Amino acid sequence: MNKFSASQFRQQFPILQTVSDAHQLVYFDNAATTQKFDAVINSSQHFYLNSNANVHRASHFLSAKATKAYETVRIQVKDLLNAHSEKEIIWTKGSTEAINLVAQSYGMQQLKLGDEIVLSQAEHHANIVPWQHVAEQTGAKIKVLPLDAEGRIDLTVAKIMINENCRFLAINHISNVLGKINPVAELIALAKAQGATTLIDGAQAIAHLNVDVQQLDCDFYVFSAHKMYGPTGIGVLYGKQQLLTQMPPYQFGGEMIKKVSFSGTCFNELPQKFEAGTPNIVGVVGFGACLDLFSGNGFKQLLSYEDQLCAYLYNALAKMPEVEFFVSAAPDIPLFTFRLKNVHHHDLATYLDSKGIAARAGHHCAMPLMSYLGVEGAVRVSLTAYNTITEIDYFIAQLQAYGQQNLGVEKAVSNSEFLSKQQILALFAKANSWDLKHRQIMLLAKQLPRIAKNLRSDKDLISGCESKAWLVLNKPVDSPLVYFQADSDAKVIRGLLVIILSVYQAKTIQQIIDVDIEQYFETLGLIQHLSPSRGNGVRAIVQRITELAASYL
Ligand code: PMP
Repeated sequence: MNKFSASQFRQQFPILQTVSDAHQLVYFDNAATTQKFDAVINSSQHFYLNSNANVHRASHFLSAKATKAYETVRIQVKDLLNAHSEKEIIWTKGSTEAINLVAQSYGMQQLKLGDEIVLSQAEHHANIVPWQHVAEQTGAKIKVLPLDAEGRIDLTVAKIMINENCRFLAINHISNVLGKINPVAELIALAKAQGATTLIDGAQAIAHLNVDVQQLDCDFYVFSAHKMYGPTGIGVLYGKQQLLTQMPPYQFGGEMIKKVSFSGTCFNELPQKFEAGTPNIVGVVGFGACLDLFSGNGFKQLLSYEDQLCAYLYNALAKMPEVEFFVSAAPDIPLFTFRLKNVHHHDLATYLDSKGIAARAGHHCAMPLMSYLGVEGAVRVSLTAYNTITEIDYFIAQLQAYGQQNLGVEKAVSNSEFLSKQQILALFAKANSWDLKHRQIMLLAKQLPRIAKNLRSDKDLISGCESKAWLVLNKPVDSPLVYFQADSDAKVIRGLLVIILSVYQAKTIQQIIDVDIEQYFETLGLIQHLSPSRGNGVRAIVQRITELAASYL
């Protein structure tokens, strides 16, 4: 890209014009996936209308056209990474599949009892679980590098931990929780000095940095197109040609063969050796439509605009005493993970959602990092080059409003009567936007009698609910009715518990089993506002209620 203009860039993402419940969408969940560039969206349609055919195999002109479009993008990616050859670029579904490919095809073959696979505390599950599997199967051991106070992999400790037993180093370039650039070049050099092989998970880095794999001298580098304005379902494994040549195929079938007979099969050359079956052709072509963004002077300007967003947001957050960061100093890319004092992360994310702000709450696919930091979860906002200072100002204003609202310690309301289903329906009939419904849920949360902390037992925990929630059933011997006590550490779940219990409290077992909760939520207009994980949480609560009740049948 020759020139970057923030306002013109933003206009090329039609979805950013979305208005929901009178709130303009503020999309701050770019680390999960970015929105799609106009040209990417159009290219799919263009490809299907003009060039659609299977690649490589047929002799007709359409196939030649499709193959050319598809293979041109491989060369673009080779150039993007400054790889030595396009044979080193393997298409995968995404970073996860690329790591699995290396784990299966390299790790499983080359690692053995006593070898060490070195990871860091800040890895995404995608760069932990495949290696755990390799370790279990081969007898290799996993070692975990600690982080320094700023949240980067601690080089001083790494110099000791990466020793002659280290056979494989797999680390992230930028953590999807901390937003800090790791000293990967130095870490790769340490591993190389021991003769170990290296993989860099670049899922969060590739859209925010210039990556040169020859300069880094890593053996493998992985990333996903959907985090760089491209389509979902397409990603890249870069691997040094010499290593890829030695590695056995990962999947078997058409496309990855040269010759097949029942007496044996001869595999194809790189890169097709690792690309069994019809690939995601339109994904690759769509990816090609956004690759120009990541080079040239325009990319430099884009990065400097992202730096401005990052500094502005960091300064605003750092001024708020109620904001708690987990590591010191500003992140290197505009990706912030934090908590508000005395606020459950799901409560904050739900509140932000009710104001049109898409943020992320939870463990961020980094549960080991959450326990390393001593938290159950946190809120993450991740910005990119189409976000604006105006959006940051709006976000900070909402955060301040929420912080003020939560300063007082909530008083437990004990032994209050549960509202009836009719009362709840009447309250929600008046709330005709998600904003108002959300406020209503939060008000209802105050009505739930709390279970004292020392009485919250693990056996009463509801599994499948992302926030912690407890449920106890009481059945007096002389009554056909049953009573529930419930609590949660998230206010939004307490509000939902009041709504749920309004149809289950003081009912007979049969009445409980007969409740149509989906219909109830539909009438309340809540289903579409519950994220899949929260929706599952609600269903997990209902399932536990019915299971407990059914145990009395
Ligand atoms: N690694 C990191 C650091 C990530 O942030 C992600 C995506 N959140 C992944 C790996 C996995 O990427 P994908 O789901 O696209 O395979």
